[in-house]
Amino acid sequence: ADVCSIYVRRADDSLELFATEGLSRAAIHRTRLSIEEGLVGWVARHRRPISLQEASKHEAFSYREETKEDPFNAFLGVPIVRSGQVLGVLVVQNIAKRDFSEEETEVAQTVATVLAEILSSGDLLEEDDLLDVEALLHKPEHASGTPIVSGIVQGVVALQNPPSAAHPTFAKDVAEEKTRLSDAVATVQKSVDNMMATDRGLEGASREVLEVFRLFAYDKGWVRRIEEKVLLGLSAESATEQVQAENRQRMRQVSDPYLRERLHDLDDLSRRLLRVLSGEEMNTNELPANAVYLADSLGPVELLELDASKLKGIVLAEGAATSHAAIVARSLGVPMISGAPEIVDRANFGDVIVMDGGTGEVHLRPPDTVITTFEDKAQLRLRRLAGYTALKDEPAITKDGVEIDLQMNAGLLLDMAHMDETGAGSIGLFRTELQFLLGRSLPTAADQETFYSQILDAANGRPVTFRTADIGSDKRAPYMRLLNETNPAMGWRGLRMAIDREGLMRTQIRALLSAAKGRSLRFMLPLVTTVHEIEEARLIIDKEKKRHEKRVGPLPTDIQMGAMVEIPSAAWDIKKLASHVDFLSVGGNDLAQFFFAADRDSEIVGNRYDPLAPSFLSFLKRTVQEAKSAGKPLGYCGEQAADPLMTLALLAIGVERLSVAASAIGSLKAMIRSVTFTRLRDEVLRLVEKGEATIRPELRAFAKFEGIEVR
Ligand code: PEP
Ligand code: MG
Repeated sequence: ADVCSIYVRRADDSLELFATEGLSRAAIHRTRLSIEEGLVGWVARHRRPISLQEASKHEAFSYREETKEDPFNAFLGVPIVRSGQVLGVLVVQNIAKRDFSEEETEVAQTVATVLAEILSSGDLLEEDDLLDVEALLHKPEHASGTPIVSGIVQGVVALQNPPSAAHPTFAKDVAEEKTRLSDAVATVQKSVDNMMATDRGLEGASREVLEVFRLFAYDKGWVRRIEEKVLLGLSAESATEQVQAENRQRMRQVSDPYLRERLHDLDDLSRRLLRVLSGEEMNTNELPANAVYLADSLGPVELLELDASKLKGIVLAEGAATSHAAIVARSLGVPMISGAPEIVDRANFGDVIVMDGGTGEVHLRPPDTVITTFEDKAQLRLRRLAGYTALKDEPAITKDGVEIDLQMNAGLLLDMAHMDETGAGSIGLFRTELQFLLGRSLPTAADQETFYSQILDAANGRPVTFRTADIGSDKRAPYMRLLNETNPAMGWRGLRMAIDREGLMRTQIRALLSAAKGRSLRFMLPLVTTVHEIEEARLIIDKEKKRHEKRVGPLPTDIQMGAMVEIPSAAWDIKKLASHVDFLSVGGNDLAQFFFAADRDSEIVGNRYDPLAPSFLSFLKRTVQEAKSAGKPLGYCGEQAADPLMTLALLAIGVERLSVAASAIGSLKAMIRSVTFTRLRDEVLRLVEKGEATIRPELRAFAKFEGIEVR
C-alpha cells in the first residue's frame, strides 16, 4: 500500500487522524471528521469494511486538503471494533486504481483487531485520550428490545461466552505460540473422540450429531483461520476469540436452522479450545448470583443446563416470542428480552444490568436514577402478583355470573408446577412437539410414554389435552430433514404430515394410549384443513387402538378426540367438523395468520392486522355460534388470548373456555372478575357492527370507563 492511516474515535464522536504513513504528517491530530462525514465516517457508522477502486467516486467521499491525498485512488477502510464499539478506522490507500482482495481485507481486519486491543490497553494513548476510549467502552447503554417473558430484574451480566482467563494479546514467540495452539487443538480433538467412544458428554446426543461435531473439531479451515492470526503475532487465545467473533457474526446472518446449529457447534469448540489454552477444567460454566445471561441466541437445551437458582434474566441478540427457548424461559419464569444485539455486544462480564421483560426495556451500566425507577416498578409488580395469588382458588367469573373456564397452556414437565400456583383446573393445550424439538433425535415410543405418564401424574386427575405433534413450518429440529418449501407455514406440516408419515403418528398414539392406562385420555389434532383429514387420522388411530387392546390391555377409561380450528376452511365448515370430534379448540395464532394472509412471524406484516378487527371477530363469532349449535364444546388457545382486550372481545362473542400461558392466568382472572358481561357483550357487538379497522381503542376506552382491570 502507498498509505496506511489510523483514525481514532474521540468522545465527541469525531474521528481523528492519529497516525499515518503516506499522508501528510502535518495532518496528524489536525484532520478530524465527524462520524457522519467521509468514507472514514461511513466505515465507523456501518461497522463494516469498504473497498473502492476510486475513492473520490463514492458519494460519501469528503476531500481534506491538508492530508494531501489527491494522488491516491484505491481505498480500503476497516472498522477497529472492541466490545461492539467502534474505536476507530484503519485505512489503506493506493495510487493505482486497484481492487483489494478478500484475503487482503481479512488481513486488514486482523490488524484492526490487534489495534483495538492496543487502543483499549492504553499502550498507544496518552492518559487523556485513553479516557475517551474507556468512556466509549463503559458508557451506559439502553435498548428497547422485544419483550418475550415479563418480569423486572436487576442483576449482573453473565455472558454465554465468559471471558477466558486473562491472557496476553500478543505472542512473545510466534513459533512457540503455534506449537501451543496445535497442542491445544489436539487436546480438544482427543476429548471429542473420547466423547464419541463413551457416548457421554453431550446428553442424549445421537451418534450422527456427535459425528458432525467431530468433523468440525478436525476441520482444517477452522484451525487454519486461527493459525493465520497467530502467525500475524496474536496469542493463541486472542486468535481463537477473534475467529469465534467472526463466526458469530456469520451466525446472525444464517437463517437455515441446520447450518445455524453447525455454527453453534463451532462456537462450542472455540469455547473448549479457550478453556484448554487457559488450563481451566472442562465445563466450568459457573453463573454469578443474580445473573442476567446475555447470548447471541440460545437453544432450549442450553437454557435448561444453566443453574436455575442463579439465573434471573435473559437478554438475547435475537429470538422470537414463539421460539423454543422462549417457551422454556416462560416455564422457568425467567424474564426474557430479545432483539438487543447492541447490549449483548457491549456488555462486559459483571456489569450491572436492569431489564423489564414486559416492555423490552434494558439498561446496561445504568445510572442510579434508572435503577431506582426499576426498583419501584418491581415493587409495584410484586404487589400486583400477590393480588393474583390471592385469587388462585377463586373462579374466573364475571360480576353478573358468567363463569369462564380458564385453562393453562403447557409443553414441558416444568410447566406442570404452575397448575398449583395459578389454580388452573386443566391443561387446555399441551404442545407435545416440544419433546420432539428439544431432543437431538426423534423420541422413541418408550420416551414418549414415560413423558406423557409424568405429565398425567403431575396433573393428578386434572384433565390434560395433548395436542399431537405439530411439526413443520417453524417447528423443526436440526435432525429433521424436512422439505425445502417456499411457504412452509402453508406447506407440509401438522396433520398433513402426520397422515403422510403414519409411523410418526402411530408411535405417538401408542405412547398416549399406554401412558393413560386406567385414566381418561384427551387429545386433539393440529392444523385440520378438511373433515376428510380427520377421517384419515381416525383410521390410523383406530389401528393403534386395536393393537393396544390385542397386545397391551384395556383402553383408557374414556378417550376424547378434538380438532384444532386454525385454518379458515375448518372454521367455515365447523358444523361438519364438529360432528366428527368430541371437542374443538381454536388456535388463534394460526387462524389469524391465515385469515389475514399475514405471516405471524414476519416483522413487516405480522402485526399489521389486529385480531380485534371486526372482520376477524365476526368470523370467530360465527364459528363459536355454529359450534354451540352443533353441541360441541369449543375453547380458544392461541397466545393472543393472553392479550386482555382480545380476551374481552372473545368473551363477548361467546367464548367460554380459554387456554393461556401460566403467566397470564392471574391477570386475566382478575380482569374477568371485574367485568359485567352483558354490558361488555352489547358494547363489543356494537363496535363490531360499526366496522372500524380495529375495535381496540374504543374497547380500551370502554374498559376504562367500566373500571375493568386491563393489565
Ligand atoms: C395457534 O396456532 O394458535 C396454536 C395454539 O398453536 P401454535 O401456536 O403452537 O401454532
Ligand atoms: Mg397453531
